[in-house]
Amino acid sequence: MDSLLVITMALIIVQSYKENNHLTVAERSPGIQRQTLSYVVSNETNRNVTYQPIRIQVVYRDMYFELSVEDRQRIIGAVFKAVEKISQLLSVFPVQKPVLLKRSGCHKEWTTGPNKGRCKSIKRNYQSELCMDTFKIPDDHLDGLYVWNELDPDPIRVVYSQGAGVNSTDFILHVDSVTTDVCGFDSVNKVLSYSKVCHVDQYDRPISGCINVCPHSVNNSPEKLYKTLLHELFHTLGFSKTHFQYFKKCQIKDRNLDCHPLGLTIVEEVNGLVRMVTPAVLRETQNHFGCTTETKYGAPERKGN
Ligand SMILES: [Zn+2]
Repeated sequence: MDSLLVITMALIIVQSYKENNHLTVAERSPGIQRQTLSYVVSNETNRNVTYQPIRIQVVYRDMYFELSVEDRQRIIGAVFKAVEKISQLLSVFPVQKPVLLKRSGCHKEWTTGPNKGRCKSIKRNYQSELCMDTFKIPDDHLDGLYVWNELDPDPIRVVYSQGAGVNSTDFILHVDSVTTDVCGFDSVNKVLSYSKVCHVDQYDRPISGCINVCPHSVNNSPEKLYKTLLHELFHTLGFSKTHFQYFKKCQIKDRNLDCHPLGLTIVEEVNGLVRMVTPAVLRETQNHFGCTTETKYGAPERKGN
């Protein structure tokens, strides 16, 4: 993880979120699905691949219900800029195959036998895959959903067939703009936007998330809109209080990614302010502010994030 981005994120939070008007809904479960992905760890010449700039695929809802063509375009422009910024800051091992997101429709899995881990029964009323209650993930981005009996190697029922997936991407971002209860209806407590991690991979790296840009915030300046989206994009990538505990350190071992918990304190309250205090963040913060004697510096964050 690039420590510079952590500092950037923290500074953005401090600069643009003095008002308490954003929210993150980023709990790990039950709303987060885990999907196993394949990663490129070596190339044809058998040389180890290193971290590559993250590739983010953005999926927009049509958003015309509340927005004009111009407003929708403003959001798209701000998201484009935020995605560009993130890909300059954050790198990952590249995902090898099209990303298919797991469906949450399985009610019970087999716990023993040859079909252990496969779906035994489907949730009642499961109809579509939603991220944050409102964003319907396109079927084409979703894995199939099948029901197996106890022994047969083939499923006995295809509830949904597998979509094509999203090529050449490491993260899928869903963007919507709809007025919800969370956005707030009174002028004092309005939330600008909010976000959620929807899927993580086998190493707990977020691989899909969604952002709802509350329509009233489109009237803010382009700079503020951009910073709002950048802030939320960081959250969807795992920079939030419920995800710090899942940060991992990864290396290549036997032509696979091998990831372990960081085993470090990631955030700590220092003088009443929560700070990100990993060694790399501490070092970059000291360099950034030119103050190498302060040992409890860290990158400041807002409480609640
Ligand atoms: Zn936030």
